[in-house]
Amino acid sequence: MLTEFTLIERYFAHATPAAGHVRLGVGDDCALIAPPAGSLLAVSTDMLVEGRHFFADMAPRALGHKTLAVNLSDLAAMGARPLGFTLALALPEADPDWLAPFSEGLAALANRYACPLIGGDTTRGPRNLCVTVFGEVPDQQALRRDAAVAGDDIWVSGALGDARLALGALRDEWALSDEALADSRRALEWPEPRIQLGMALRGIAHAALDISDGLLGDLRHILERSHVAACVNVDAVPHSPWLAAQSEAVRRTCALAGGDDYELCFTAPAAARAALDEIAQSLALPLTRIGAIVPLERPGSALTLHDNAGQPVSLAFQSFDHFR
Ligand SMILES: [Mg+2]
Repeated sequence: MLTEFTLIERYFAHATPAAGHVRLGVGDDCALIAPPAGSLLAVSTDMLVEGRHFFADMAPRALGHKTLAVNLSDLAAMGARPLGFTLALALPEADPDWLAPFSEGLAALANRYACPLIGGDTTRGPRNLCVTVFGEVPDQQALRRDAAVAGDDIWVSGALGDARLALGALRDEWALSDEALADSRRALEWPEPRIQLGMALRGIAHAALDISDGLLGDLRHILERSHVAACVNVDAVPHSPWLAAQSEAVRRTCALAGGDDYELCFTAPAAARAALDEIAQSLALPLTRIGAIVPLERPGSALTLHDNAGQPVSLAFQSFDHFR
């Protein structure tokens, strides 16, 4: 196997952008970053394990993209701007036919968000990909899970459920046309981190997170941390035409509890609606109001669901539990 230094140097270090705030990148014991004055450092780490988070035969270019994308998504959820990332890889072998496209997928996304690789480590073992991202957000402007207040609207970006729709087809839970599978598989394998949206929401949104484990399960994190409750109209949750063509049960399972969406769910006061419509226009990214934050009246009353007709909807959805 290539040594740790040559593998990182050869495939990753020079493929990602240089950045002025990185005083020292790959090659020393530590990287040195100078965050802008008045900013807080936002740090997050996410690990992808073969067989649990991705199939062994997933195209390496897509896997390189997704490995970084899911981490950048956590920065987006805080309203943070990317500064750099580290990469720890366990690989069964140093296979150039896998490493080259993997690093290309990773580097293409890193370049788009000016987010350089600043360090890494490699070892031999079952395939396991771990990224730590570093970002910056102005003090007092981070979008935290504990900041929702009663009266807020609840919003989501993009469309939810396509990643779960593709996963279900790949696991033979349901059948999809070739076109529907190709489209939804793009959502599963090429998620787009909503970095610009997160930064645009600074000073506008109250609480935010990225939807990685399913809308309802993730929304509960905001409710718990903010000590509030929520009413959600399940028919308002945005989804693709492919999901619209499914049965109600499949559609709701995918859109409400699917996971791997990497869209943002956030709360904002009603006074922010016009500003949010402008943000949606300027980013060409739909933002949809799906419900409201309400006072928490008693424990267990935190999340109630209804449909377009105002009828209650049962909460019989499980949050996506990776490949279980
Ligand atoms: Mg997250």
